[in-house]
Amino acid sequence: MFDVTKDDVLLNLITTDDQNVTEELFAEARENRKEYYGTKVYFRGLIEFTNYCKNDCLYCGIRRSNKNAERYRLTKEQILNCCRKGNLLGYKTFVLQGGEDPYYDDDRLTEIIAAIHAEFPDSAITVSVGERSTESYEKILKAGAARYLLRHETANNEHYGKLHPSSMSLSNRKKCLFELKKIGFQVGAGFMVGSPYQTPQNLLEDLHFLRELNPQMIGIGPFIPQADTPLKDFAQGSLEQTLRMVALARLIVPQALIPATTALGTINPFGREKALNAGANVVMPNLSPVEYRKLYALYDNKICTGDEAAECFMCMQNRIKKAGWTPDLCRGDAA
Ligand code: SF4
Repeated sequence: MFDVTKDDVLLNLITTDDQNVTEELFAEARENRKEYYGTKVYFRGLIEFTNYCKNDCLYCGIRRSNKNAERYRLTKEQILNCCRKGNLLGYKTFVLQGGEDPYYDDDRLTEIIAAIHAEFPDSAITVSVGERSTESYEKILKAGAARYLLRHETANNEHYGKLHPSSMSLSNRKKCLFELKKIGFQVGAGFMVGSPYQTPQNLLEDLHFLRELNPQMIGIGPFIPQADTPLKDFAQGSLEQTLRMVALARLIVPQALIPATTALGTINPFGREKALNAGANVVMPNLSPVEYRKLYALYDNKICTGDEAAECFMCMQNRIKKAGWTPDLCRGDAA
């Protein structure tokens, strides 16, 4: 067993290229996930409902300054139709994800959430629309959402400043995460691996932050450059290191729900299966209308942009079974 309370052990696992050590780490992560979730892999139906964003994160393809991004918003009816499709397939969680789009003020956003909640009362609604006031988060919770995803991206202040404009701050991001948790959301944090200027020490700080926040969900993906961003010339994050961080997140927060991210599937054809092997236990197939999928281009070459919801669903089911895990369509709340 690895003693993950020790920083030198963690740093060694963050940076190791020893295959035996890596396999041992993955085996321990799998054991931990099995203890809480058996062999189940939970499904979340992802609806990317707006690619407008008021922010200008330097790595992001839908940042405000990207004039090449073709913008879209889904109407309430379009969003409900995505949920209806998902419901027919058996999904019991819908994830509403978007940029920080001021159009969706509290009234508009809560109207959509309440409509989904009224039509699918047994399904969990996850929201991922960035930093808002505590009052706004409370309204979202009251409207029927149960989970909120807000990746912190890096837990190091200086590093955060190199990836974000000065109008954004790590302290506010952290404050939002703690507030969300306090008011009763199941909360999801997470970070990029291999982002520009990142050091192993930064990744260690990400793990420290996970331990401190103890989130119910943890999203970890490799940095992937996007051609229309200031960070376009940086190399993508490594598959191996991202997988090790998934495994370490599992050891630090054993009961977490950890998705095998699309970004991992983008840098390697079996990236998601490898993530399941390293301790992940959630997949998030896309329910967004196909005609908008390519426009939600946070990074380049994103996979699964051409398949209908049912195709994505079947493909993921088959992949999961082939990899030896059990697809599970329940709400999949945190243990
Ligand atoms: S990462 Fe999120 S907040 Fe930042 S520009 Fe992209 S969509 Fe907006």
